[in-house]
Parts: sequence; structure tokens; C-alpha cells
Amino acid sequence: MSSLSASAFTGSLDYRDYASKHLANGVSSTPRASQLPVPLVIASARDAIVTDVDGNDYIDYTMGYGPLILGHSPAPVIERLKAEIDKGFRTASVHSGEGRLAELIAQTVPCAEMTSFVSSGTEAVQLALRIARARTGRTRIVKFRANYHGWFDNIHIANNPGNDGPSSAGQDPQASGNVTLVDWGNAVALEEVLSDEFAAVIMEATAINAGCFAPPAGFLQAVRDLTRRHGVVLIFDEVISGFRLDLGGAQAIHGVTPDIAVLGKALGAGLPISAVTGNRDVMAPLVDGRVLHRGTFNGNPLSVGAAIACVEYLQAHADIYPRMNAQAEAIQTHFNAEAQALDLALCANRIGSAIQLFSGVRRLDTIGDLDKADKKDILKLTEACVLNGLNPLPRGLMYLSAAHTDADIATTKAALSSALRLYKASK
Ligand code: PMP
Repeated sequence: MSSLSASAFTGSLDYRDYASKHLANGVSSTPRASQLPVPLVIASARDAIVTDVDGNDYIDYTMGYGPLILGHSPAPVIERLKAEIDKGFRTASVHSGEGRLAELIAQTVPCAEMTSFVSSGTEAVQLALRIARARTGRTRIVKFRANYHGWFDNIHIANNPGNDGPSSAGQDPQASGNVTLVDWGNAVALEEVLSDEFAAVIMEATAINAGCFAPPAGFLQAVRDLTRRHGVVLIFDEVISGFRLDLGGAQAIHGVTPDIAVLGKALGAGLPISAVTGNRDVMAPLVDGRVLHRGTFNGNPLSVGAAIACVEYLQAHADIYPRMNAQAEAIQTHFNAEAQALDLALCANRIGSAIQLFSGVRRLDTIGDLDKADKKDILKLTEACVLNGLNPLPRGLMYLSAAHTDADIATTKAALSSALRLYKASK
């Protein structure tokens, strides 16, 4: 298999020069700017294939950074969207889809009785924290290091190993004054800090953002027990894991039910929608209107319609989960075997249909070892993937979808073999 050369990206390079004149950083979300050899400008997409403005095809593993669980062009979602558009936009009006989607979520997610919709995961986290504070009359929050909960000042901290502070310039350091940090996976550390002063513990039940780490045995149950003991609201941030790992999310897989779950990404099949869902008791301050929940675009008919079509499809085709997981496992196994055969310090972790490639380490089993991974070099590895027709996230995360065929997986394995040889030759 021959790799693409530098001349294959002139359209994307020209676009970067043009866009950067008026579009800050040339992109609309910072991580997208880090893609090498250049942020690919995607002209069109179908199923699991994206085509850039230079006419190069890639098997896509960004899948919208997670949402595109049914691929780039899922027929049931597109049909539903067309039908919604024909009824007029109806933005910010009450419409029957909202109630139906909340009912579908209650049917599938264990903690879900009452649900409310917003547009992004970042907003949904804020609403969940507000509900927890109102319900408990307390203000303090526990956040785990290396868990990501959106980019707002109060919670956008301790995202990277070695930095417990704000992740971005310009954040108000005082905004996170009520947040206590604990190492993810360490129930003893949580027990030491948790008290009746805390409103909430927020966490990713499976640490996919950090690098695809499963919770250590007994950890989630210990967190559940500790939060119950202190009357603290347990929030699972299932923005990635919800509807991606299972219809019921990580909580269904691990058999531990939080008080509140935050859903997003795969819920909307690619349209912007997120949800806060929880048991009736904890959601009471939102139900009775004491907690204000505002937003012009909340529950807009197009996003809700896409989410209904997506969840109904997933309910009827739950076999996509074992299929995606098996495909992801095949990619992970192949990558690790090839890295070993080529004597490269690389490895792939996996949770369900999400794979994380790491550079600088031959294995990375615990979240506490994250500082051993090479965050710069992974960009070179994912560049080698792009040059061989694969499109992972620049930081090495890869998402499968129901649209990836077994032929795509076979092509991916061959492309990874070429990419690893190219990467090795560049060392
Ligand atoms: N929580 C988690 C676990 C996430 O992965 C993300 C996004 N990657 C968010 C919250 C924020 O979601 P959004 O980008 O939709 O604001």
C-alpha cells in the first residue's frame, strides 16, 4: 500500500491559509487544529468514509469526535430530519418530540426517570451540577483528575497529568474553588476527602477521554456507597459512553446506577443535543422550577428528531454493539501485534468501540501512568495514519460506528501496518 505524499493536501493547505485570515486558529474547536500533516478539510462523507477537498478518501475514526454512532449518513436519521424540516423549524417551541425522547431515554438508561435537554455536553454538566447543589443545599464538588467534563471555568481543570489547575489561558482560577480533586480509580482517596459538605461527585464511569481505561474492580460500587453514605449526588458523565457502549451506557454495563447521568454525543447521531437525566427525587428542583434551565436551542425539533430516530434504531438493532466491539478489538489486537513485531514503543487501549493509541509506552494499564505517554509524538503517529487513508483523532482516539464494514476493518488493518512502517522510518 503506498502512502499519500505532501502534494496530496494542497486543497486543505490552501484552505488553512484562507480561513486563518478571519477564522481564529482556522478551526472552530482547538483540538482540530492539531491534525498533521494539516487539518483535513472534509468536503463530503458517506457511511464510514470521509473525502477531503483534495479528493482523498479516508476510513473515518473521528466519527464526529464520538456522536456518529450510525455513521455519516444514516438513512433513518436523515429521513426523520427531512420530515421535521418539512414541518418548519419550530425552534424554541414546545413540541411532541421532547416528551417522546425523554420516554425513550427512560426506557433505556437505568437512572433515567426525569430528563431535560440542552445542546452540548458542557452545558449539560453545568445543569447537572446546579441540580445537585439545589437538591443538597451544598456547594462542594469532587472531580477526578484526567476526567473531562466540558470547557467551563469551574470544571475545566486537572485534565492533563501534572497540572491540577485550569486547562486554558483566561480561565477564572476562583471558579473552581469549590472543586476537590481525587485520583480516578482510588476509592480510598475519595473516602478520605468526602464529607457531608459535598453536593456531588462527578465522574466518567469509564475513562474514555483519558485513554480508554476501565474502572478498577469495585471502584464504581465504592463510589456509589460513599456518596450514599454522605448524601452526595453521584453524577456519571456519560457524554461519550451513553449509547456508545450500550443502550444503557456504562452504568448498565457495570451495574452501578448513579443519581444523575449526563448524555450527549451518540444520543443525537451527529446533531447537537445533550441531556441531563436522573431519578425523580434528585431531579425535583428542576421539576418544580426552582432550578432555572434556560436555552434558546434546548430541545430543538431537528436535534430531538435525530435523537429519536437514533435511539429507536439502536433499540431495534442492539446487535450493533457486539459487532462494533469485535471490530474495534480486531483493530486493537492488530495494532499491538504490529507494534511489537516492529519493536515500537506504541500500544492501543480499548473500551468497547473506542480505541486509544499511545506513543512512548509499550503498555499503559492505569490512568496514573498517563504521564508516560508522549503527547507530541502521537501526532506523528496519527499523521502516518492519515497518510495511509485513516482518519483518527489527532490525539490517537478512534471511534467505530455501525457503518464500519468488515471490509473497512480489513483495509484499516493493512493501512495500520503501512502507517507503522512509515512512522518507524521517520524515527
Ligand atoms: N463530558 C465528556 C465525558 C466529554 O467527552 C465531553 C466532550 N468530549 C464533554 C463532557 C463536553 O461535551 P461537548 O463537547 O458537547 O460540550
